[in-house]
Amino acid sequence: MGRQPCPMRRDVAIAVSPAPRYHRHASGGAVSSVGTTHSPLVDGHGRRLEYLRLSVTDRCNFRCAYCLPQGCPKDAGSAPLGLDEIERLVRAFADLGFWKVRLTGGEPTLRRDIVEMVERVASVPGMRHVGITTNGYRLDELAPALARAGLACLNVSVDSLDPDRFAAITGAAGLHRVLAGVEAALDGGIERVKVNVVLLAGTLEADLDRFLDWVRERPLTVRFIELMQTAGDPGYFVRNHVSAEALERLLEERGWTRQQRTGAAGPAVDFVKKGHRGRIGVIAPYRKGFCAECNRLRVTAAGNLRLCLFDEREVPLRHLLASDGQRAALAAAVRAAVGAKPEGHHLAEGRLGRDRSLASIGG
Ligand code: SAM
Ligand code: SF4
Repeated sequence: MGRQPCPMRRDVAIAVSPAPRYHRHASGGAVSSVGTTHSPLVDGHGRRLEYLRLSVTDRCNFRCAYCLPQGCPKDAGSAPLGLDEIERLVRAFADLGFWKVRLTGGEPTLRRDIVEMVERVASVPGMRHVGITTNGYRLDELAPALARAGLACLNVSVDSLDPDRFAAITGAAGLHRVLAGVEAALDGGIERVKVNVVLLAGTLEADLDRFLDWVRERPLTVRFIELMQTAGDPGYFVRNHVSAEALERLLEERGWTRQQRTGAAGPAVDFVKKGHRGRIGVIAPYRKGFCAECNRLRVTAAGNLRLCLFDEREVPLRHLLASDGQRAALAAAVRAAVGAKPEGHHLAEGRLGRDRSLASIGG
């Protein structure tokens, strides 16, 4: 079987229209948007941006069927940002009012310096919430150290609770290891542990009831994510996409109650049921209005700013990460770029973005 290029690299500078000089944020205050630091960052659609998703590696040890079905070649992409570059980046985003950062990938725990990375990011003044999204394969050994380093929130991908189905989806026969990692995270003092499940053909039949049973005793949020089409394999999407509404109907039939969304809830709609310590979340990217409250920016492992998961454009930032003295210029470059953040991902209209998979940008 031929290997899929992983991931595509087209580090092209884009001409971005500058953000308006003064922008009135939805909540009221006038916001300067010309390279000054310490004032909130607002995009051209009035959305306050405060959450950075940073891919720290393109590499992965899994071969999820919807992401890297052929695995990731060893020589993938440019070298990822180093710790000093990451710290400078996060400091500049903190200057822009960002308080939340999630380290993702590829598989972030493949980096040997992941614990030190969390520690350094968590000690940046203003960064109140540091999270990781991981496939959980190294979590059992890493969870206590990550908790000590200041990790507040952990999202672990567990696409099935059936070992054979898990292996078929991820290409890794390691469900027991991943589940041990989830337990270690729950026991090890990480404040919020969530499980991500990509909703695929067969998930509702094979796994829904297992996940519902799982959260009866565990204080976990299990979030089902509707499969998003990428440029890698449109046929896989056609064969495997299941609508979030189908899942929500089954949850309601089983007595789960939809919660009112709050501003800080993120993209998931939560469901709860009496007698269950955990909850179920549904992330429905194809639902109308999904992007209306988007509060995030993304940076790729090579240090390129991405305004949206499915936007074609990138703004290279790495040249502004070489020394501490570039911090204000870096913040100004981000501020100048955000005026071009699209109002939505346009997935439903068939936009696939630039990536063959989400492994290069972090999902
Ligand atoms: N390797 C880590 C993991 O799997 O959790 C972090 C990177 S992964 C790209 C981040 C998240 O994106 C995972 O929860 C993964 O299941 C999800 N994801 C990847 N491709 C997806 C797709 N096409 N549609 C929906 N979710 C996807
Ligand atoms: Fe790796 Fe995560 Fe993609 Fe699976 S979803 S192949 S674990 S990057």
